[in-house]
Amino acid sequence: MSERAYPLPDAVTQAFWDAIGEDRLLVQRCRACGRHVFYPRAVCPHCTSGELEWVQAAGRGRVHSFTVVHRAPDLTYKDEVPYVVALIDLEEGVRMMSRVVGCRPDEVRCEMAVRVSFEGDPKLPVWRNSE
Ligand code: ZN
Repeated sequence: MSERAYPLPDAVTQAFWDAIGEDRLLVQRCRACGRHVFYPRAVCPHCTSGELEWVQAAGRGRVHSFTVVHRAPDLTYKDEVPYVVALIDLEEGVRMMSRVVGCRPDEVRCEMAVRVSFEGDPKLPVWRNSE
């Protein structure tokens, strides 16, 4: 029996995971260049400024691309396959890898509008069809 692996918060990501636990999705925004940043980083990937602040994301996005997982990566996923792993383009202009839930895998389409949801223990951000 294997145990499912979850993200381990560190100094850079702690605020993100604390917010997820409260059903809030945060992304970083650079005070120097104004661009949003995801995944969480210590330095802006656009201008190398270290002045990144946390802002609440709208929680809306569109499916950029996706795949359907049919083979469970370990036994803890065996009752969940098939499921969708997708790249979600958030309104803030950043891209997040996550799951699309609440619909059949064959209903997921590129460009489909989705809204964030928070599920599991510990909570993780997932996305649901909002069309
Ligand atoms: Zn920047």
